[in-house]
Amino acid sequence: MAIYIKTSEQIETLREGGKRLGTILNKVAKKVKPGISTLELDRYAHELIKEGGDKPAFLNYRPDGHHKPYPASLCTSVNSEIVHGIPKGSVILKEGDIVSLDLGVNHKGLFTDHAVTVAVGKISKRDQELLDITKEALEVGIWAARGGNTVGDIGNAIESFVHKRYGIVKELSGHGVGVEIHEDPYVPNYGKAGKGTKLVPGMVIAIEPMLNIGSAHITVMDDGYTIKTADGSKSAHFEHTVLITKGDAEILTTF
Ligand code: MG
Repeated sequence: MAIYIKTSEQIETLREGGKRLGTILNKVAKKVKPGISTLELDRYAHELIKEGGDKPAFLNYRPDGHHKPYPASLCTSVNSEIVHGIPKGSVILKEGDIVSLDLGVNHKGLFTDHAVTVAVGKISKRDQELLDITKEALEVGIWAARGGNTVGDIGNAIESFVHKRYGIVKELSGHGVGVEIHEDPYVPNYGKAGKGTKLVPGMVIAIEPMLNIGSAHITVMDDGYTIKTADGSKSAHFEHTVLITKGDAEILTTF
């Protein structure tokens, strides 16, 4: 992997792709309700991406070390599933569930990546707090993602904000994005201020905190993709693709 500093032309394309992705994921999130299957959400996301003339980034993507390509456009991770849950017709969302929706789009050859965790119907106060704090952890991370800072500043800001209230998943992290769906640098959700890769204007990174109500430990399911909390506690995940500038990062996956 490599770090790519994006040209102004690439940034324009990523802005358009990110806007499309933000719009699509918002539409998919609005479809979430008790009784819908995660496969229906995947089909809807796929259809919306195709309608715009773009390509889903995750479908048939084969991460390093995997022998099977990912079989869907959307990742749907329910309750104790953290990330990379595979949509299925047999997984029917029910009142009180939470579901992470993670989607990547390839617009004119360039990639953006975005995730939200949403409530299915009415959820418990404790689960709503998990969603609120995870979303806020992302905002805190984005705030720290300024040119001249380092990836350690992002991780440190998130870790300090979470302040042991939740388990921060350590094995998975944010990442550079744009030319490829996963590029350098790694952007961990914990760390030391001032350490790690320096953020330079023109870098595009995905920041994606994953917080567990219980411990930070994870386990991988037999499908080779779905990652769950080891203790079965619920987990939330929010992600934006952002452009590093001299000042505040620009969120690309919004509309
Ligand atoms: Mg990502």
